[in-house]
Amino acid sequence: MLDFNVTTREQEAQPGADGGDAEQEGHVYDTIIVGGAPAGLTAAIYTGRAGFDTLLLTGPLLGGQVATTSVVENYPGFPEGVGGAELAQRLQRQAERFGAKMMTESVNGVDLSVSPFIVRTRSHTYRGRTVVIATGAFPRRLGVPGEAEFFGRGVSTCATCDGFFYKDKRVVVVGGGDSAIDEGLFLTKFAREVVVVHRRDELRATKVYQERAFANPKMSFVWDSVVEEILGQETVTGVRVRNVKTGETSVIEADGVFVYIGTRPGTKLFADQVELDDEGYIITGKGQHTSVPGVLAAGDVQSPDFRQIVVAAGSGAVAGIEVCRFLDEQAARQAA
Ligand code: NAP
Repeated sequence: MLDFNVTTREQEAQPGADGGDAEQEGHVYDTIIVGGAPAGLTAAIYTGRAGFDTLLLTGPLLGGQVATTSVVENYPGFPEGVGGAELAQRLQRQAERFGAKMMTESVNGVDLSVSPFIVRTRSHTYRGRTVVIATGAFPRRLGVPGEAEFFGRGVSTCATCDGFFYKDKRVVVVGGGDSAIDEGLFLTKFAREVVVVHRRDELRATKVYQERAFANPKMSFVWDSVVEEILGQETVTGVRVRNVKTGETSVIEADGVFVYIGTRPGTKLFADQVELDDEGYIITGKGQHTSVPGVLAAGDVQSPDFRQIVVAAGSGAVAGIEVCRFLDEQAARQAA
């Protein structure tokens, strides 16, 4: 039997009971950054370096989705690539060097209608003059029978976390984008065969990934097909797929299923507080400002378009700079 130690990327803070309230009486941070991935960490580097009292609430997984990436090949300045977790740790050290305070707490409530803003975790109520939302995006699920049942017992959204458990096994990867192919290629280091199931007859992934995938003898493709059910007993034994052109169904035997069908934004907590678009992403204007003055957003939580670490970090830098400007202007108004 496989020994599973699943660490999922599903780290979104859930609203919940606000246990033991050790209220930080009276203390107001200049900025509270929610989310410890590249966008939030970069914002903290900028606000910390500018001398502002910065609190960053990382949630349980420093680095977010980046931490679950084995090697990052396209982040500038690392010609040989850099491990995702290592990149996150480097960003953390840099932010801490400039005085940013890090807490590994998850936010379970916010009130952005009051001044200062309130950010709650299970054990604390924090107050901030500004808030940067950098809660990222999370893997989407297929929503088919067997997926929830076998999640952590053969179904995963993180090859970096769980690939090791599939040494010499056969796995299915669902999806045709960069994530599916990148992570599928990573899985070939362990698995004896990686079967990519894609709903169309061509991949969405960029050319460099496609070339690597088609050249890899361990990778095979099932085109024009969707997964209708994940099969298993105690663990996964396969998937039932349907060919969308012929309507035929068949079973692909597999020990594991990795789902890479895109992401959804981590905006549950902010739904009634800042303006979101139809897909739930936070709407930002110039300078990463949201619909609430003093509340900014950066990274994947406000943009489904690029999903590049450097883009997230760039938007985090803009948010950090804008926080500094906002606070300076606020101070100038109060002094006048
Ligand atoms: P994506 O580009 O949105 O691709 C999602 C894939 O899943 C698509 O092939 C899509 O099919 C398929 N899909 C969506 N819903 C489905 C469903 N219900 N059932 C079956 N298949 C479904 O998402 P992603 O691969 O996570 O990439 C997101 C962004 O991150 C992209 O901008 C990508 O370039 C970037 N990214 C970059 C890197 C890198 O540069 N190293 C690595 C990972 C991700 P269709 O093709 O038919 O729409």
